[in-house]
Amino acid sequence: MTTTVELLDALSEQIRSCRLCKLGESRTNAVPGEGGAQAKVMFIGEAPGADEDEQGRPFVGRAGKLLRKLIEHIDLEDGEYFIGNILKCRPPGNRDPEPLEVEACKPWLFAQIAVVKPRVVMPLGRFAMTLLLGPKLQIGKVRGTVIERDGQVFMPTYHPAAILRSPRYQKVIVADFEKLARLILELEP
Ligand code: SF4
Repeated sequence: MTTTVELLDALSEQIRSCRLCKLGESRTNAVPGEGGAQAKVMFIGEAPGADEDEQGRPFVGRAGKLLRKLIEHIDLEDGEYFIGNILKCRPPGNRDPEPLEVEACKPWLFAQIAVVKPRVVMPLGRFAMTLLLGPKLQIGKVRGTVIERDGQVFMPTYHPAAILRSPRYQKVIVADFEKLARLILELEP
């Protein structure tokens, strides 16, 4: 029988050779995401940046270091979380993803969520939240709240890059991560 690790690895392999949109031509490396195949939580950002494109790994730049500190703060261990993005390839110059690119790429993320079956998906920032939960929500109003869609629990928060732009975001993001930690425990099977 195929294990979840094998299923997730197989998806990563397919993503690394994907050419379903034009970003497949300009990227250095696709960035499938990484973490536990049975993670309790999936952190989902917008798209890889320059460092991620270079290394083929998610959240390895400055914002990524902040994300990893937040994860440490709530005592999640390796294997208990998965980190990825909506788009698996870097838009040139970090421009906004185009609708056709998002349409082409989002089935990869949905397939990853279907394999991992996390207790919670945490969209990081407005872009990821809009794709996963629809355009009507405002991140400033729903961050740190529990939203259920089709049996999947979500808790959005700001993208950690917001802290780099303004330190005032740190307190609210830390508070949201602490709420996330409590929610993960509440949802213990
Ligand atoms: S961005 Fe997504 S759909 Fe486009 S080439 Fe990369 S993996 Fe494929």
